[in-house]
Amino acid sequence: MENFKYQTEQFADIRILRYKIPGFEELDLDKKKQLYYLYQAALWGRDIIYDQNYKHNIEIRKVLEHIFVYFKGNREKKEFKLFEIYLKRLWFSNGIHHHYSMDKFYPEFSKKYWHELVYKTDSWIFIHSDIDNLNIIEKKIGNIIFDKNIDTKRVNLDDGIDLVKSSSNNFYENVSQKEVEEFYAKMVDENDKYPPSYGLNSKLVKENGIIKEKVWKIGGMYSAQIEKMVYWLKKAKELSQSKLQKSAFEKLIEFYQTGDLRKFDEYSILWLQDNNSMVDAVHGFIENYGDPLGKKASYESVVSIRDEKASMRAETISKNAQWFEDNSSTDKKYKKEKVEGVSAKAINVVVEAGDCSPSTPIGINLPNAEWIREKYGSKSVSISNILEAYDLASKDSGTLQEFAFNEKEIELSKKWSNQASALHVDLHEIVGHGSGKLAPGTKDPSDTLKNYASTLEEARADLVALYFAIDPKLVELGLQDSIEVGYNEYNSYIKSGLMTQLVRVELGKNLEESHMRNRQIIAKWVYEKGQKDKVIERIKKDGKTYFVINDYKKLRTLFGDLLAEVQRIKSEGDYEAGKFLVENYGVKIDYELHKEVLERWKKLNIAPYAGFINPELNAVYKDDEIIDVTVSYPDNFAQQMLYYSSKFSFN
Ligand code: ZN
Repeated sequence: MENFKYQTEQFADIRILRYKIPGFEELDLDKKKQLYYLYQAALWGRDIIYDQNYKHNIEIRKVLEHIFVYFKGNREKKEFKLFEIYLKRLWFSNGIHHHYSMDKFYPEFSKKYWHELVYKTDSWIFIHSDIDNLNIIEKKIGNIIFDKNIDTKRVNLDDGIDLVKSSSNNFYENVSQKEVEEFYAKMVDENDKYPPSYGLNSKLVKENGIIKEKVWKIGGMYSAQIEKMVYWLKKAKELSQSKLQKSAFEKLIEFYQTGDLRKFDEYSILWLQDNNSMVDAVHGFIENYGDPLGKKASYESVVSIRDEKASMRAETISKNAQWFEDNSSTDKKYKKEKVEGVSAKAINVVVEAGDCSPSTPIGINLPNAEWIREKYGSKSVSISNILEAYDLASKDSGTLQEFAFNEKEIELSKKWSNQASALHVDLHEIVGHGSGKLAPGTKDPSDTLKNYASTLEEARADLVALYFAIDPKLVELGLQDSIEVGYNEYNSYIKSGLMTQLVRVELGKNLEESHMRNRQIIAKWVYEKGQKDKVIERIKKDGKTYFVINDYKKLRTLFGDLLAEVQRIKSEGDYEAGKFLVENYGVKIDYELHKEVLERWKKLNIAPYAGFINPELNAVYKDDEIIDVTVSYPDNFAQQMLYYSSKFSFN
């Protein structure tokens, strides 16, 4: 695999990459089989994310895939290529809304060509659907994908409007934000110290005037997919490497069978305690970014093998978690007296599915339930092979040279960017999200900080990582080879927060996505507060803007000040202060600077987003027994998407 091709193609604003699975070949057969079962269980949930993102997504995907395969017209025409790009974008975003901005994206081929596509495609009989009339297909699907007035935003976080009604995700139907909030407020039992995450695994609908939940479980919504998942999870359970892992799988299966959220919490607690198994999987309804109210969770799965070497680094941080907690800049009354169960490791992923694919996180910190985190801690995972693939694919792209102020900055980055980003992820996940506590009587941040909760939580975790990035303790613990790693981290964070991340946003638009908002809040806040001392200087050279850090120590102090404030906001549930930070620092973009950044970026011709083709696992059978599992690395994105749609979907 010497010439392993990390990037296979680029279209629209997307690059398609691949990753390797180090260590797979060395596993014994049982572990390979277990991974194969979990791989199946993961991919069987793929259709769920399409449906959660938008209620017509699966139907649209099926129609477009059918055209892609059976179109009889000229496939070399420019318009057909534009159709291909539209379909690839849909696959990449698991639907017709951009995976990051949440805005609907539009075909670049014409409506006239759409007519040709539909009528020059045959074998429509293969599509089993409610719509079998070409005229209806053309009208119905055509309207949804072209119309710039309907369902234009998957998740709307704008202040002052009904977030539920203005978001076109498929978590609610016929209900208003007020009705949703009242429905779930009634469920809260003040005396329940261990409340389940109400609403996490259901769609809330109003039918005949009655508001009720449709639960995702066997016998409920997505029953067919969940039955398949459970079938494979049961097989994976039989090959468990420890009692703990076995009971975790048992609880997960029970959860899917019953839809009982308390079972999901029980599962999560067992899962987070199982930190040593070689094979591991995240599987379930996990992150709530797809819901503006943060109640409903999207399906995802990440199947992985432990990365022994990188896990040592994570363990060092984890072992010293109490030191980080005690020495952070937060108010003493919001510190945990005893940091417990911060378990950390690094993994190499084998397959990702649902919300985590093709676009993937680089680190995971779960579970999300606040009371579990406080009582049991959380499991923090950084994903080594994804981080490595990103780094190797981006080498020599020219971005660094364009946005770095001088040679020294470039040199620092070349030398340390790998170490700095891996360390940032670990600190963010292990001591960032895992730190701090709520003031007595303060409710869960999703109730107190509402639509600002996830942005502020990401800011808090980043600030912890930044605050310690140039602490000599990191070198002392062997986590950094040099304090320069931290300097490089500061350079790249400020650059990204104020400039380079803007390449992902259309000119004239606001920031929407939580992580982007959080980065700008931090960078803009420290820039502003340090202006008088020129901590960070805005310099214009040859018509280009640069942000140059003059004083790393003072910058650290500013990160610390903001960390203390964000922790206070979370601990006290101070909605107004949280809103102030987000609305003042995290939403609006400097128009002139944005324009400049986009122009500079355009010259480099690099798509701002990337996602991955998964490796394929193949079971080798003899009689009815699996005697081996092999890995292959496909390099055709469209083919993998078509394969998934044919293998892991129902008609
Ligand atoms: Zn995070």
